Amino acid sequence: MALGTASTRTDHAPTIRELLASGERSYSFEFAAPRSEKGERTLWNAIRRIEAVAPTFVSVTYGAGGSSREGTVRATERIATDTTLTPVAHLTAVNHSVAELRNVIGQYADVGIRNMLALRGDPPGDPMGEWVRHPQGVRYAAELVRLIKESGDFCVGVAAFPEMHPRSTDWETDVRHFVTKCRAGADFAITQMFFHAEDYLRLRDRVAAAGCDTPIIPEIMPVTNVRQIERFAQLSNATFPSDLAERILAVQGDAVAVRSVGIEYATRLCARLMAEEIPGLHFITLNHSTATLEIYENLGLHQRS
Ligand code: FAD
Repeated sequence: MALGTASTRTDHAPTIRELLASGERSYSFEFAAPRSEKGERTLWNAIRRIEAVAPTFVSVTYGAGGSSREGTVRATERIATDTTLTPVAHLTAVNHSVAELRNVIGQYADVGIRNMLALRGDPPGDPMGEWVRHPQGVRYAAELVRLIKESGDFCVGVAAFPEMHPRSTDWETDVRHFVTKCRAGADFAITQMFFHAEDYLRLRDRVAAAGCDTPIIPEIMPVTNVRQIERFAQLSNATFPSDLAERILAVQGDAVAVRSVGIEYATRLCARLMAEEIPGLHFITLNHSTATLEIYENLGLHQRS
């Protein structure tokens, strides 16, 4: 597709807010910022395979600093200009002044991006280390939502945590802060990955009970190898289900069997969620499209395209 045509398409594509308001479910995929040329090639192989199933949107995570941030902006811009996909651009407040944040927002706007995910981000290194605000920056995601909204006609998403944000001390305050982000202008939310549908459903009910109807899209990540059991816990604070760990460890010498246990578990979780009134599903790909596409196919979703 010619560059100009793609930009025009992005300008006129409905925002995630408009799409969810129409009652349509959103199906989306998340990629990680590439850190090398080889990583970039792997990312683009995955993006092209995902493009074939015409998802609602795709996104690329925003790194903690340095070159991975440039990689995020470059990849997100290229998705907007060189593919038929709708990008949702991640942006975090870590180590950024307000002027720098405005600059990144402007770069995204220049290529026709209208959907953004406003995140506070974690400190580089230890995610639970001290969070230090940039002297000219913002402290919480709610402030970033406001900044993006003030900068133009953007549709803005925020993060939600089915097992409570790890820095929160109780559910009441956690939900109150989430609702503040929504009242600051957030149009939709995407959760941290989780393994038990009940955790998502309870969060949704708590948020509704607080008088907030912002759609919350559940995020799914299939376990495809044994190493991920430990990594999951480090990355997300999600409780790893003991039945899944047992089933994976029982076949740990057989990579194909491990992968198929993980895919089957994630498929069942998605099916359970789809039986509820969810606004969609967001899949973490780790830049390898095959596992998430298998789940997509198991759920009969590839027939949408
Ligand atoms: P906030 O909403 O600011 O909340 C952070 C903590 O502060 C919470 O405990 C909250 O309860 C508390 N809080 C909020 N407001 C107040 C207040 N006014 N007073 C006191 N306490 C308050 N990280 C990245 O670095 N890059 C990414 O691309 C990225 N993508 C993500 C995508 C998704 C879907 C999710 C769920 C997370 C993602 N993250 C990413 C991780 C995220 O940045 C971290 O989990 C971060 O710790 C929380 O960000 P937040 O936007 O929810 O922060």
